[in-house]
Amino acid sequence: MTQKRQTSCADAFEADAISVNKAREIITQKITPIKKSENLDLRSCLGRYLAEDIYSPINVPSHTNSAMDGYAIASEDLPTQPSQSYTMCGTAYAGRPSTNTHKTGHVTRIMTGAVMPKGTDTIIMQEQVEIIDDKNVLIKPEHKKGQNVRQVGEDIAKDCLVLPKGRQITPADLGILSSLGLGELEVTLRPRVAFFSTGDELRSVGESLKEGEIYDSNRYTLFGMLKQLDVDITDMGVIRDTQEAIHDAFIKASKIADIVITSGGVSVGDADYIKPTLKALGDTYFWKVGMKPGRPLTFGKVNDSWFFGLPGNPVAVMVTFMQFLEPAIHYLSSGTIKSPITLQAISTDKIRKRAGRTEFQRGIFEQTADGTLAVKRTGKQGSGILTSMSVANCFIVLSEHSEGVEKGDIVTVQPFSGAI
Ligand code: AMP
Ligand code: MG
Repeated sequence: MTQKRQTSCADAFEADAISVNKAREIITQKITPIKKSENLDLRSCLGRYLAEDIYSPINVPSHTNSAMDGYAIASEDLPTQPSQSYTMCGTAYAGRPSTNTHKTGHVTRIMTGAVMPKGTDTIIMQEQVEIIDDKNVLIKPEHKKGQNVRQVGEDIAKDCLVLPKGRQITPADLGILSSLGLGELEVTLRPRVAFFSTGDELRSVGESLKEGEIYDSNRYTLFGMLKQLDVDITDMGVIRDTQEAIHDAFIKASKIADIVITSGGVSVGDADYIKPTLKALGDTYFWKVGMKPGRPLTFGKVNDSWFFGLPGNPVAVMVTFMQFLEPAIHYLSSGTIKSPITLQAISTDKIRKRAGRTEFQRGIFEQTADGTLAVKRTGKQGSGILTSMSVANCFIVLSEHSEGVEKGDIVTVQPFSGAI
């Protein structure tokens, strides 16, 4: 029989909090990927997600051709011992094939990308040929059959699966798709994301601050992080801490977005109206994750929209967005799960931690002179210290079981693109 875990004040375990992995699992279980698609011209598909498998309509390259400037020859006519002289007949250029058919004792001058003349299968680089006069060349032995030749279809064979449905189109993919002659593609519709901040203390940039008020920074970090993804963004501003205002904002957001994101108001304070509103209007799948920062994180549904209620603290907003929303948006668009890249690095700091929750401390990792990776903490780790995110280039991920790290221990880091 499994024993119920005892909560002690010596650890950070909370019986009603789910693990980070469980939260990720629930998100992908609940979300259904977008099915609707649109047809776009190739350039507009950069960063978009393929709505169909792409099969190659042709071979790439479409003909066997020379990989070097040099001389085309038939392999059975290659010199053995000693060097042998050959007569040059004609030139093959890229886009202007030669009409030559190979004859014993002859070579065809050939440029990179030109179709191999009939009967030839091997290229001798021009640097390896000695010119005797304007009609004859001397070729040394020890060349290999088929050298310096690009075979038809060696990059992409006709009818093979080139890019699968759900693939996010990269610059290399644009090149591949254009090499197949594909000018238009069917891509999934962009997810629509609406977000707003909650809090009576929040003022927008441009307004003046009264005592106890702060500027709303979460809407700016959220805007920045969303901007780097392939989504349509609606910024709904700051919503006051009243049940009615939050209720109305939920309704409005769910009409215009596939994903609704809020920050603040998800704890259990007297002015935290997100949870009761979600309860009244939709479903809540989880509301507490065993992590630091980011514990009060709500995931649910309002009408047909997926709802993510992020904590109010600025670092917690960024951490929860990167850990849950980025993968959720990727899954919504692609139907595929993208796991974060992690590396192992030596911690140059002693890090205190209590067992029971996953911590995402902000770190700076770099390669040391001997080639190993080392990571140090950014300094103060409070969830309001947003400068820690600005100087960091990774999270130091400490598992829920970890009870801290000694200087010199190996830790897991999750890199992200930072300022350094
Ligand atoms: P809450 O979860 O609403 O209690 O907020 C937790 C903390 O985060 C409080 O100190 C809030 O003032 C702060 N906070 C909430 N929303 C924002 C925001 N949009 N920008 C900056 N700080 C915020
Ligand atoms: Mg608040």
